[in-house]
Amino acid sequence: MIATESDIFTDETFWEPFYTDLAKAHKSIIISCPFVRRWRLDRLEYQLKTMIRNGIAVCIFVQTPASLRKEKTNLSAEEDREICDYERDIKRMSTWKAHVTERPRAHQKFAIIDGTKLWEGSLNILSHRDGAEHMRRFDSRYEAERVTKLHELDRCFDCEVLRAKYFVAAPNVELQRQMIAHAIHSHRKYQKFSLRDLSAASGVAHQRISQIENAKYLRAIDPLFEIFNALGLRLIVAQADDVSAVLNQIEIRSEAR
Ligand SMILES: [Zn+2]
Repeated sequence: MIATESDIFTDETFWEPFYTDLAKAHKSIIISCPFVRRWRLDRLEYQLKTMIRNGIAVCIFVQTPASLRKEKTNLSAEEDREICDYERDIKRMSTWKAHVTERPRAHQKFAIIDGTKLWEGSLNILSHRDGAEHMRRFDSRYEAERVTKLHELDRCFDCEVLRAKYFVAAPNVELQRQMIAHAIHSHRKYQKFSLRDLSAASGVAHQRISQIENAKYLRAIDPLFEIFNALGLRLIVAQADDVSAVLNQIEIRSEAR
């Protein structure tokens, strides 16, 4: 066990040093927070939009609003309105070009800045109003990485698309199957891998790779990721409906830089 120094804060002392950290960010900020409320976004909007304009990736992880609907069958008008507000606030962050990832049971509270500063504790950064809270700050790449890996906060879809070296976008599974088949076959040939070489590197049976290359197999997605990883590629597959939104974001972001 490595002891890491940290500082502790309350809701009253948290915001000032947190904003100082945001102002010094130069690469990325991850915020994991189960809920979002308008009054908190009103205060954060200027800072987060400035960061995004400066090319900093703002990756937000929130609880899926739809999962709140599923939890209860008879929603009161009040509860229904709260969920609608929540959905509207999530869309609002997307219009800033923040990356928003929804997860069904997410209830963790973190902020990670440039992969080196970690804030964790009870305070909901995107919805806090006036509750008494406890927060802890680590200036430690080690602690930030541990939390990022454990809670998969590096699995932001928008960031994955931006990093992807192979982006398959097609309106149906049949076309996706053909594009994937072509990608694997051409990259395998280019890298002078035999089917057996690729099988050894990926851990996927060579008969299975052959089926995939002949566009005859695409029932399970897992072997595809193994094969693409072995070829040094990252695979992203998207439905055609999602594509224009994603590409639009990339275009706007590259223009902004
Ligand atoms: Zn992201």
